[in-house]
Amino acid sequence: MHEWALAEAIILAVSQAAEREGLREVSEVHLKVGELQQVDREILDFALRELRSGKLANTKFVIRVSKAAFKCRVCGHRWLFRDIRASSDIMEAIHFIPEVAHAYIRCPKCGSPDFDLSGGRGVWISSIRGVK
Ligand SMILES: [Zn+2]
Repeated sequence: MHEWALAEAIILAVSQAAEREGLREVSEVHLKVGELQQVDREILDFALRELRSGKLANTKFVIRVSKAAFKCRVCGHRWLFRDIRASSDIMEAIHFIPEVAHAYIRCPKCGSPDFDLSGGRGVWISSIRGVK
């Protein structure tokens, strides 16, 4: 159900933007979904296609994943979420609550738990294309 609520919010935001920009119709919308966000892209895409109407009746939605990137504050090492070898329980916990990452993840190089996490969170509209 989460994806449907999200799709409704996206449709509303795009409709408002189209209104503001004076678009007659919206042809393409690019979305980014954080890797750590628990969003099923197929369900989201389906929900968006089911819910589109009016200026969005023929809109194509392009959904991309925003990768979670880590940077160690101690040694400067950078790594990606997929580089982490953790048990699936931990991976699930991290997907569900990105904030718990600090409790489980250590820098693979120096072992420090002090790191920055960028990307991988949230859902946002990166671009809207339409006809004026
Ligand atoms: Zn480090």
